Amino acid sequence: MTDGTMAACIIDDTPRATIVPKPRRRAGEVLIRVTLAGICNTDLEIVRGYVPGFNGIPGHEFVGVVEEADDSRLVGKRVTAEINCACGQCEYCRAGLGRHCPTRTVIGIINRDGCFAEYMAVPQENVVEIPDTISAPQAVLIEPTAAALEILDQVTIGKTMNVLLLGYGKLGMLIAHTLITTGCTLTIVGKHPRKSRSCGNIPAHYVPADDFVDGQFDVVVEATGNPAVLERAIANTKPRGTLVLKSTYAGNPPVNLSPIVVNEITLVGSRCGRFEAALAFMQNHYTPVEPLIHKTFPLTDAVQAFTEAAKPGALKVLLKNE
Ligand SMILES: [Zn+2]
Ligand SMILES: [Zn+2]
Repeated sequence: MTDGTMAACIIDDTPRATIVPKPRRRAGEVLIRVTLAGICNTDLEIVRGYVPGFNGIPGHEFVGVVEEADDSRLVGKRVTAEINCACGQCEYCRAGLGRHCPTRTVIGIINRDGCFAEYMAVPQENVVEIPDTISAPQAVLIEPTAAALEILDQVTIGKTMNVLLLGYGKLGMLIAHTLITTGCTLTIVGKHPRKSRSCGNIPAHYVPADDFVDGQFDVVVEATGNPAVLERAIANTKPRGTLVLKSTYAGNPPVNLSPIVVNEITLVGSRCGRFEAALAFMQNHYTPVEPLIHKTFPLTDAVQAFTEAAKPGALKVLLKNE
């Protein structure tokens, strides 16, 4: 639109498609025209109340083209952006851990508008250029791939280890593709049998949730997004083993923590990862883009897109801007 407004999806109580003022880029920021964006479980959790009081434009998985920047060389470049906008000064930022900066804003999640809009403004230091070899849907998947790879930054997984992945949704599929590169023995438990086919190209055992018999695993990764699975995840972690939690939950799941103490289980919370690592991973390994895409909607149909993304078993729903 040329009148200083743009189409966007906002969440106050529920998601709705609307017209809002086009963002203005501040010094140090770039203005990006978003071309493709992805709905992630975090966005669905925001609708369910994971970020109390969230009121704005959600979305943090995207690719777009730079329209304005202080650095004119960036204009016209295809980019995505690291989602944590950090202060750059504090002890976390100085250690390269801006994603833990206490005063950070997070694109589409905390105090900063996201990518479910025609335009967005982000700090220039967050911008990551996308090489031509990476397709638009792949670029949208850089953020969740970085989140999947974060596990390998946090936990050492070796060839002799037995690993259990609970949950084979959008993030779970990417996690499987990163875990398998360690050479570990991987068991995947999922709800939807049709997804087992996409395991075909990785050497993992896929077990439908109803058929899974409890076992003892060196590492268990919980990626179902379902708090009811937590006790089972704990029970399947062997003494002195590691339980990795990848889901954020709205609400406070009741869970018995005693087995964690008795079995001396290491509990690892795992969230965002490094974009450069994800980009390198995508260039060096097969990443399952096609099997992950569920449906694509125009941005103006964002409400239907959210409804579709929330259906059980739905994979990645994309929002397209033409
Ligand atoms: Zn995400
Ligand atoms: Zn900081």
